[in-house]
Amino acid sequence: MQTSIAPVSLPSYVKEFCAEISSLPPQVLDYTSSEGSLPSECFENVKRKVAVAGGQAVFGWQIWEWPGVLVEAEFHSVWQSPAGELFDITPKLENERQIVFVAELGKTYKGERVDNWRKALIDNRIVHDFIRLCEASFDWFGQTPPSGTELEGREARVYIHFEELKLLLITTLKSGTSRNALCACGSGEKYKRCHEPSVEKILQLSDRSMK
Ligand SMILES: [Zn+2]
Repeated sequence: MQTSIAPVSLPSYVKEFCAEISSLPPQVLDYTSSEGSLPSECFENVKRKVAVAGGQAVFGWQIWEWPGVLVEAEFHSVWQSPAGELFDITPKLENERQIVFVAELGKTYKGERVDNWRKALIDNRIVHDFIRLCEASFDWFGQTPPSGTELEGREARVYIHFEELKLLLITTLKSGTSRNALCACGSGEKYKRCHEPSVEKILQLSDRSMK
């Protein structure tokens, strides 16, 4: 479910967020199409581009913003042309033409998935819980293929429960940030009495399993 946009300017909260991730300054990069490039395959796309056009891969973070809710940084690679200019060559699902990118020195892709950085844009329990859910599910299942179909038994049930709760909180946050609002599951109960305890329970479970 698409909730976030690629910001094309650098408001102070984006700059502050980037400063927590990297010592280099964030920049707005243009997207340029590149033959054979696929969405979500930035590392392969850049590797192929370097092989045919020269230049080099630069690693860092692409910034996404869910306006009023959170900012997120996704591990990303862009292409540095032989002339030294940076271009994003990975197509976006929403056809964004520019991205905010912050390079990180010394960072490379080692074949493993890397969790996003996330920061709440408001001080709100549901937003914080959503971020904790994302982090906990990555800690647990980060290297599992996203479909989760290889999992069995209890692991599969926990995985599905995480995914359901994340989706529920996304739906909840799309209509507001009040814990007194009706739960997005459709039960007719207030969120804080309906699914909030389930969120708390799975976070406690994952805390214990990580120890
Ligand atoms: Zn509910």
